[in-house]
Amino acid sequence: YLQSMPKSETIKLREKHIGAACQLFFRSSPLKIVRGVAQFMYDETGERYLDCINNVAHVGHCHPHVVEAGRNQMSLISTNNRYLHDEIVMLAERLVKTMPEPLSVCFFVNSGSEANDLALRLARVHTKRKDVITLDHAYHGHLTSMIDVSPYKLNLPGGPEKPDWVHVAPVPDVYRGKYTYPNDSTSEENLGKLYADEVGKLCDEIKKKGGVCAFIAESLQSCGGQIIPPEGYLKKVFKHVREANGVCIADEVQVGFGRVGTHMWAFETQGVVPDIVTMGKPMGNGHPVAAVITTPEIAKSFTDTGVEYFNTYGGNPVSCAIANAVLDVIEEERLMERAARVGNHLLSRCEGLQHKHKLIGDVRGRGLFVGVELVTDRETRNPATAEAKHVVNRMREEKILISRDGPDSNVLKFKPPMVFTTQDADRLVDTLDRVLSELNGGMTVNVKLEMMVTPIRDEVSNSSLQTNMPQLLKAI
Ligand code: PMP
Repeated sequence: YLQSMPKSETIKLREKHIGAACQLFFRSSPLKIVRGVAQFMYDETGERYLDCINNVAHVGHCHPHVVEAGRNQMSLISTNNRYLHDEIVMLAERLVKTMPEPLSVCFFVNSGSEANDLALRLARVHTKRKDVITLDHAYHGHLTSMIDVSPYKLNLPGGPEKPDWVHVAPVPDVYRGKYTYPNDSTSEENLGKLYADEVGKLCDEIKKKGGVCAFIAESLQSCGGQIIPPEGYLKKVFKHVREANGVCIADEVQVGFGRVGTHMWAFETQGVVPDIVTMGKPMGNGHPVAAVITTPEIAKSFTDTGVEYFNTYGGNPVSCAIANAVLDVIEEERLMERAARVGNHLLSRCEGLQHKHKLIGDVRGRGLFVGVELVTDRETRNPATAEAKHVVNRMREEKILISRDGPDSNVLKFKPPMVFTTQDADRLVDTLDRVLSELNGGMTVNVKLEMMVTPIRDEVSNSSLQTNMPQLLKAI
């Protein structure tokens, strides 16, 4: 009952009817996932994979409490928020309790993109200005408005052109960014200032032509390669933006809901209070539900336009019941504490690997948000892109799913469901150790060859280079 057709048929139908632009993991040998339980996913043959990527399945795939909440509410009523319903107000009250004052007014939507789009609309209405500052390599969503503020997509050769109202500040990456440790400063505080002043300079420029509408950023940049900004960075940025009368939007779509372990929201790790917070992904544990939380003052500006807001599915009782159940599980299973404990273990084990493998240039993270940056040379910090690709493919063969990110796709990314255990972390690191040792022990030439033939290889195969070397050589 887990599949309606053989995998080969699924692939054929997908190729025929689903837009080829849609992302697919391991494209030339994709996975067919039919079931999930906690931190594991199963393919159609019953093979089990350890999921180290899925930050959406926050409290674990198919958590029974969440499934039950959705099923119950679905059997009672699924309507829209033009009627009163207890689930929506309870959810709003619970979310607001996790926020610092004055963040207290909620709008419910269906995806992270929609949440950020509404945040931008609120900022525009409130400030009556248009210009937005975003960070390089940032991703804030797939809507037209969000692609415009997402250099992650704008920078691609075929991507849309950056509009004039969008201003891009350097990402505060102290390892491979504009200012690095220890080259530009050995003090974190100082690096934070150097990066924040870049935003300050943009604010000054924008002020000359009218003024800043908003600054939008993830408080820990995930798409840019698991970036942890230096201490004090956001405090100084928010000061610059507010002096220019702009509002500060924190995108918590990936990093929210306790993933950082020490706090419910990643912006709290920088000691700031944004004007608008957006959230999504983990909120529904796989069900589409997202939200925007803002101040009464900004919400009033929106009301004062006289244009009523309506969103057919945003805040429907089923989505809200599911989001309430997710919050129950985070609290009852003490998942934030677990994220801190398991995350620290994972981070220190990865740091251990760094001593052993020269390929690992940097290890960074907060809770269950960890990045391992691969470089070909620790001095030059050149990205080991091909090696990272190889590692991701080899880990898949070992039934462990990880991903890679960053502008050079050389950062291994771990953001597992929060039910991840120390044993899972050990398995992940031990396997990574083995795969990196293989690279040290003679695979390097193959990987170099891969750099030359990557476009051809994508056509012919996607599993490990070693196993496909004859095919590859034929392709050359
Ligand atoms: N913001 C961030 C930081 C994201 O990572 C994403 C999705 N990857 C989005 C916004 C958009 O969310 P969605 O895909 O739910 O529209």
